[in-house]
Amino acid sequence: MKYWSQFFIPTLKESPADAEIASHKLLVRAGVVRKLGGGLYTYMPFGLRAIRKIMQICREEIDRGGGIELWMPHVHPAEFWIQGPRWDAAREIMFRADHAGAGKCAGAVPEFVLGPTHEEIITPLVKTEITSYRDLPKNFYQIATKFRNEIRPRYGLMRAREFIMMDAYSFDADDAGATRSYMAMKAAYEAFFRRIGVQSIAVEADTGVMGGSFSHEFMVPAEIGDDDVIYCEESGYAANRERATSAIVPGDIADAAPIGDVAEFATPGVTTIAQLEAAPYGVAAGEQFKTLVYVGDGKPFVVILRGCDELEEAKLGSLGFSLFRPATPEEIEPLLGAKPGSLGAVRGTIKNPGGLAGVFADRAIKLIGNGTTGANRDGFHLRNVNVARDLAITKFGDFRRVRPGEPCPLSGKPLKVRRGIEVGHIFKLGTKYSENCGAVYTDAQKQQHFMVMGSYGIGIGRTMQAVIEQSHDADGIIWPWPIAPFQVLVCLLDPQAADAAAMAREVAGAAEQAGADVLIDDRAERPGVKFKDADLIGVPLRITIGGKGLREGVIEMKWRHEKDVAKIPVGEACGRVAAAVKAANDAAVKAANDAVVKAANDAVAKAANDAAVKV
Ligand code: ATP
Ligand code: MG
Repeated sequence: MKYWSQFFIPTLKESPADAEIASHKLLVRAGVVRKLGGGLYTYMPFGLRAIRKIMQICREEIDRGGGIELWMPHVHPAEFWIQGPRWDAAREIMFRADHAGAGKCAGAVPEFVLGPTHEEIITPLVKTEITSYRDLPKNFYQIATKFRNEIRPRYGLMRAREFIMMDAYSFDADDAGATRSYMAMKAAYEAFFRRIGVQSIAVEADTGVMGGSFSHEFMVPAEIGDDDVIYCEESGYAANRERATSAIVPGDIADAAPIGDVAEFATPGVTTIAQLEAAPYGVAAGEQFKTLVYVGDGKPFVVILRGCDELEEAKLGSLGFSLFRPATPEEIEPLLGAKPGSLGAVRGTIKNPGGLAGVFADRAIKLIGNGTTGANRDGFHLRNVNVARDLAITKFGDFRRVRPGEPCPLSGKPLKVRRGIEVGHIFKLGTKYSENCGAVYTDAQKQQHFMVMGSYGIGIGRTMQAVIEQSHDADGIIWPWPIAPFQVLVCLLDPQAADAAAMAREVAGAAEQAGADVLIDDRAERPGVKFKDADLIGVPLRITIGGKGLREGVIEMKWRHEKDVAKIPVGEACGRVAAAVKAANDAAVKAANDAVVKAANDAVAKAANDAAVKV
């Protein structure tokens, strides 16, 4: 047990000026963290206790999911990254240094970088250490510091520059094995989030710069989240908006028949979808083709969407470029022959078709069939443009942003949207990293194969803050029992009174014996201050001893998440407090077991479904 007067929980009445959201304000006011600089935080003694508990539960579940813990350096010789498959895409978020001790990298090639994640470090390690199928599968993980030069660090630990991550990397002999490792980790994540008392949902996610074939994000629903989750209550479909699809285009949609010859018409000064919609033209946005030009790994390409749709930029990742960006007007004009606003992809109108890496069309343009597009001549458009006949399309794909209300791809029911905080992410990577690095193993027939990888991350600090975002009230934090820095707070109203102090020690001892972490508030503060602080720091069970109550022969017991206060005769105090602690611990153990059983059942059901699909 700890005495507050000898411990350190610097509570504050006011929130810091840069804290915009409740959890960030509470982190600081309750003495959980202190800011060092933008996106850099000290975990204060009180906060560290929660972090440690979260890490421990995480460790238990990842171990159960097959993980083996190790610890890798945070400082990486840059060559590991330069030789890796995503240096170009990742370098900007990395802290780079010329030589040990120098803060900045003047040249293009740094000597060291700080690890934003560790695929580039673990793959060469496994390549050296594992050569036979007998040693596979393996899943290595660590719980360690990461650094990312986030452009806009904000919301406290939510988007920090230095943060703690559990990161795991699985290595399997084949794709089926990699899927098993992936499902085991998904189950471990589900158990972990349930055990720490946070509600999370697994949603389909974009693989982004990480590469790989599929991925899930674990989202905590919250208004302040950075991500949009598109979901369907009916079917259980849930996907990050970056990845979500809908069933607005029938799977078997036929090519529309042409309705006439392509005809050019003058549109002086018209450069937007809305202008072409307005009089005198009156072309509905849903009948227009929107033509965008991007540059992927130095090569320009065209994307076509319906005029009424928005591009979901992340979906361009499916085209296989490691870096892409919108082209500038200066790049566009010599290629297509016009400025943005008059662009199109009708055969024969593109000035330099050979300069394009491709024309990629969103499938929804098939709903247009015959529409209107730019003529690649400033101030002119073309009508009667038939998708199949007139557009030189390299490949159809899904590039549009889904809108709520569109039909769910599984059930056809209207999709909904809600905000979420991404607390964890799992990727099935395939062989991107093992091929790049030459991580092979030899099978029983002496054949060599690339290892099939997965990678997995949980933001420990972000998760702690997401818990607070989900579990607080106007007065302060409400810690879930399993991760509370202290579970029982003994509020000693008059520390000078020997009988009260003795009673507090006795009750605290009973709570500790029963399995709780106990804090005794023995500070020389007024009761009002103590109660306010107790609510602010959010310890789940508060026992109040002293003052009028003790004179009347009672102590008080109150759960942080409840309003009622129970008065307990002094003679029953130790027994009742111990019973409450035991009940809370039992509930946590039961929840943990349930979580594990549920995760295991889900995994079995999923495996059964997959098997059924294959048959
Ligand atoms: P985001 O989309 O929020 O930038 P990410 O997709 O880049 O995150 P991953 O590479 O998937 O993040 O990292 C795994 C986990 O690490 C995330 O799910 C998140 O919990 C945590 N994490 C990532 N970036 C940060 C950060 N800047 N601050 C705190 N935690 C982070
Ligand atoms: Mg992610």
